[in-house]
Amino acid sequence: MRYISTRGDAPPRDFEGVLLAGLAEDGGLFVPETWPVLTSAEWRKLRGLPYPQLAARILSLFTGGQPDEATLRPMLERAYASFSTPAVAPLVQIDHRTFALELFHGPTLAFKDMAMQALGPLFDHVLTRRGERVTIVGATSGDTGSAAIEACRDRSAIDIVILHPEGRTSAVQRRQMTTVMADNVANIAVDGSFDDCQDLVKAMFADAEFRGEVRLSAVNSINWARIALQIPYYVASALALGAPDREVAFAVPTGNFGNVLAAWAARRMGLPISQLIVGSNRNDILVRWITGNDMSARAVEPSHSPSMDIQVSSNFERLLFEMLGRDAKATAEAMRRFRAEGKMPIPDAAWKSACQVFRGFALDDPGTLEEITRLHGQGYLADPHTAIGIAAAMHVPPADPAIPVIVAATAHPAKFPDAVRQATGLEAPLPPRLADLYDRPERFTRLPNDLGQVESFVRAHIRRNTA
Ligand SMILES: *Cc1c(COP(=O)(O)O)cnc(C)c1O
Repeated sequence: MRYISTRGDAPPRDFEGVLLAGLAEDGGLFVPETWPVLTSAEWRKLRGLPYPQLAARILSLFTGGQPDEATLRPMLERAYASFSTPAVAPLVQIDHRTFALELFHGPTLAFKDMAMQALGPLFDHVLTRRGERVTIVGATSGDTGSAAIEACRDRSAIDIVILHPEGRTSAVQRRQMTTVMADNVANIAVDGSFDDCQDLVKAMFADAEFRGEVRLSAVNSINWARIALQIPYYVASALALGAPDREVAFAVPTGNFGNVLAAWAARRMGLPISQLIVGSNRNDILVRWITGNDMSARAVEPSHSPSMDIQVSSNFERLLFEMLGRDAKATAEAMRRFRAEGKMPIPDAAWKSACQVFRGFALDDPGTLEEITRLHGQGYLADPHTAIGIAAAMHVPPADPAIPVIVAATAHPAKFPDAVRQATGLEAPLPPRLADLYDRPERFTRLPNDLGQVESFVRAHIRRNTA
């Protein structure tokens, strides 16, 4: 199994190479050279497997035997043992055709744990075997950072530095990152937006000298292994509701387009998924694209669903590459124009064919609170991201009422207590293992949106740990 860059100007790599590299050298994203496709009989055989075993089977389709399924299985069994339910990702019925796929039962209470808890051990396995070390840098609008830190803390082959936009994450999100006192963990609060943080990370990767010096790696959703580890829960939930003998649809609250891209990948692999419904908050670039082929970036506005306060959805590039018939030159040119002009030109034919699969729905903050209130009235307590996903499922469902809609429930309501309180009057309690979060001391460094200063900080952090 080999991986190629969406921009066509980087050498192909194997799974381990892609895992360690994150972004390709040409600024593109790695995608499988060919997609594994399963027959109906092969999908049926996966029914009823415990989640970690199913995940190991699916992941092994992307590793090309390195690591093999026998190595992955115990690794993933241990990784998902940190979840508070043995089901790992339980399905909860919301109404006659709508189901919440709860992806928030991991240590940091958001769906990022689904991939990240497995990614830490995967990195460790590969690095230890090779006798190497890496520095992981990542940008987070909230949940990626804490999930990455939980996955990498105290691992001797890894240093990790996470950038978050100062004041734009919830207090729970920030504290989940800044209260981890492991020596290999550092947090930077950047004076800027999430997109600024993401740009700083991309700029560090583009700085070849720095990249080599600190052996830079990424665990944000541009890392292919993250996407691969998000495919299994789409498979498991679809199988549970009757696939491959019945079509299903998914609704996914979206920011960086990673989670919904994993659903798209499951469809590409032959799972019968009729529709992918994208939910956005007021930062609705993806919905504007789906409903009118308008892919133009606007300023990022803060919302009740901060993990979706994003205008430049990095994983969209993978879909773009596929939509353009895997034409890397055209992909690189569209990305260049998006950078330069803030608007991505996508041919009408490509957009129309994507619209056969994608639906979009955006909800502002008042609408999000109303949806949380409505769902609470029906007996389901949803966080703002999940509420947007469920609202999208309700507003633009598949035409055929026999098709169930599975909503990715991406965060535990206790992670966004202010919105939940405003909408329901309830205090969603933190689970026991996080109950003292507000009493723990915090550690982070404030820096301006300046590449030179951020790079110096990363160097100093590593020097401290390898001295
Ligand atoms: C990260 C995140 C999202 C968005 O996921 P993407 O893969 O970036 O689209 C949605 N909800 C929550 C709670 C998240 O943490």
